[in-house]
Amino acid sequence: MTAIEYILFRILRLFRKLPFNILGIGNRKIIFAEYFKDFEKIEAVKGIFGDKTQEILNTLEVELSWIMGYMYVDGSDGHLVISKGYLSSGDKTDIYLDLIHELCHVKQFMDGKELFDPKYEYVDRPTEIEAYRYTVQEARRLGLSDERICLYLRTEWMGENDFRRLARSVNVLIR
Ligand SMILES: [Zn+2]
Repeated sequence: MTAIEYILFRILRLFRKLPFNILGIGNRKIIFAEYFKDFEKIEAVKGIFGDKTQEILNTLEVELSWIMGYMYVDGSDGHLVISKGYLSSGDKTDIYLDLIHELCHVKQFMDGKELFDPKYEYVDRPTEIEAYRYTVQEARRLGLSDERICLYLRTEWMGENDFRRLARSVNVLIR
């Protein structure tokens, strides 16, 4: 097994099999810890929530939805919304990193921070930069190269200039 295969193997183990098909009709809410296994043992997650990690993951609601795209934290009550399509067919390393990113937003929400402050462009928003920096740090710990991290940061709805600005803010080298 190569280092990257080993990382993937470990990440795949973090996704539980649910007693229902996540692609089933309608949106449904589950509890984070019911589906994402052992996250309370991950140092990066403990680094976000500290002593409250277990308690928060055992109560954090996750809405599995037919939204397009990936995942986000709902600004009204701080629950996590995840696209069913992304969860079932997205790259598991990307999903793992997105979860770390969104858990940062969950914490920011709990601390009363404004997640969608319209004063800022997406890539300049302090809450985004903080979440991306933390996620990049975790990606590096997993052994991902800057090239792979760039692939993660580059999304189809982000323009080239925004992508470059974000990569610079989080100290990721673009080749
Ligand atoms: Zn974000």
